[in-house]
Amino acid sequence: MTPTVTVSPRGAQRLHDGHLWVYRTDVRETSASPGDTVRVQDGRGRSLGSALYSDRSQIALRLLVRGERDAGPALWRARLEQAIAYRASLRLDATAYRLVHGEADLLPSLVVDRYADCLVLQTLSQGTDRHLPDLVAQLVALLRPRGILARNDPKVRLLEGLERRVEVLHGEVPDRVDVTEAGVTYTADLRHGQKTGLFLDQRENREAAARYAHGRLLDVFSYQGGFALALARQCDEVIAIEASEEACAQARTNAQRNGLTNVEVRAVNAFDELRELDRADERFDTIVLDPPAFAKNRAAVGQALKGYKEINLRALKLLRPGGVLVTCTCSYHVDEATFGEVVFGAALDAGAQVTLVEKRMQGRDHPVLLGVPETYYLKCLVLRRLA
Ligand code: SAH
Repeated sequence: MTPTVTVSPRGAQRLHDGHLWVYRTDVRETSASPGDTVRVQDGRGRSLGSALYSDRSQIALRLLVRGERDAGPALWRARLEQAIAYRASLRLDATAYRLVHGEADLLPSLVVDRYADCLVLQTLSQGTDRHLPDLVAQLVALLRPRGILARNDPKVRLLEGLERRVEVLHGEVPDRVDVTEAGVTYTADLRHGQKTGLFLDQRENREAAARYAHGRLLDVFSYQGGFALALARQCDEVIAIEASEEACAQARTNAQRNGLTNVEVRAVNAFDELRELDRADERFDTIVLDPPAFAKNRAAVGQALKGYKEINLRALKLLRPGGVLVTCTCSYHVDEATFGEVVFGAALDAGAQVTLVEKRMQGRDHPVLLGVPETYYLKCLVLRRLA
């Protein structure tokens, strides 16, 4: 018997409004165990669909399918096939990209990234975690990868009462995997790198930025040289700024591998370095700001906006007239309008007159599910300083 969860009118409304999540406070009754696939019903016993149940997280239910449809292995298989076919249809100029983007592929809390012939998986809820063995079997059958790594060390797993662990679940996964993106080779450390190894969500913004890049480039929050290397061929001189020494070392190796001799990588704090560069009267024609999420939750938004304002103000001061600023936020809690206002405020304070040239978001392999605003997290503005 499939366990049932009864939800409050507010929980039912949320599902009707297109969201996939029901919070614990909207759960009325349940006979379910952690990680069960459950039938969701409203107070009158009407079926709303099938969902993954968590007994720990604030997100108690993650909807898999609406109505009466069976949520068994055939559904999972069909969803994986659909996700994989969509990525193939994009004809990305890259050997690394996201194959499954959780909710936006109707596979809530599941991430699958491809790095050449290896896959990296994250099961971020009790429900997907229980499906891990089946998921591995299905992915092997569909894609025949050389290896599959479960990169299950994100902190969110603790909210689900799940342990943090990294393990090979199929075949072999080398320590480092080379991938290419628009003709640039990056080396990804799938076990220890940030996220699942690289910031795949910025691939198309790197390509877009390359169309504007010129002159002297400053790549701030560079990680392993993501933007710096993608833009270096268009620029005379590149300075990449990154706090992590390991990331800097990898960025230097990557530059060398790609035969890029105009890239200098500095292991420094970005806030300090931006101030220093201004004090030293350095100026740039292209600047990229790709900071980590300053607002990890709603309470942190105020402080985060100050951080975004500061780096954008400093960057605009360093930018020559005619120069281009590519500025990003990956904080879900900072929405597009708010981010735009912060950047505008920074321009006013910098005494810069600026045009907005392009509004961008996370790459198309990380789509946004309408109704689930949490799937829209990355905003990227391309600006041109006129005077
Ligand atoms: N632009 C990169 C991704 C950047 S992720 C790409 O395209 O691949 C954000 C980076 O900022 C991380 O590598 C993190 O180590 C770095 N970082 C965080 N705080 C920093 C600080 N105060 N100064 C410099 N770098 C910082």
